Amino acid sequence: MDKKINQTIIEVIKGNITKSQLDCIVNAANTSLLGGGGVDGAIHRVGGKAILDECIKIRNKQGNCPVGEAVITTGGNLKAKYVIHTVGPVWKGGKNNEAEKLKDCYMNCMKLAQNNHIRSISIPNISTGIYSYPKVEAANIAIQSVIDFIRRNKSMLHVQFVCFDEENYEIYEEKLKRYA
Ligand code: ADP
Repeated sequence: MDKKINQTIIEVIKGNITKSQLDCIVNAANTSLLGGGGVDGAIHRVGGKAILDECIKIRNKQGNCPVGEAVITTGGNLKAKYVIHTVGPVWKGGKNNEAEKLKDCYMNCMKLAQNNHIRSISIPNISTGIYSYPKVEAANIAIQSVIDFIRRNKSMLHVQFVCFDEENYEIYEEKLKRYA
């Protein structure tokens, strides 16, 4: 399903983000930026060495990527021209600024996309896999943050939330429906 807010289409799909045809995909990376499991592993596998090489360069310059922040690389062999890597918070019960950090992820990804003139972006359900963030709360933050951003910044034309599992897909569909 999709919704139009100002100029921007917000879409929820079920699928594999490495197959995205949009300008940019977001990776739920870890602080090392050197790849890992889940969506991170899939993106590096399909995108190839060029992505890892750029991640290593960034890491050599700035060290680990802090939780909530984002960096940008080529899309390598992916259809997407760019990958934005962000580090979601590990869920530790909710009293360790997890919500704030997760919001930072979405906001920093959108800002970085805008600064690089990116017009369309696919985003996975950050932190809801290995990092165990509760899915309903994570979806609320994801959708609210992106909508807040596009209400103020008109350059993004298409935001696609790519849900890998059925549970997230149903949660996102339900939430998006509620936005008039
Ligand atoms: P995190 O460590 O941030 O939790 P994960 O990769 O473990 O990162 O999970 C984040 C989300 O990405 C989960 O909802 C998981 O189901 C989803 N995911 C895993 N593989 C893919 C993929 N190929 N495309 C899109 N989403 C994926």
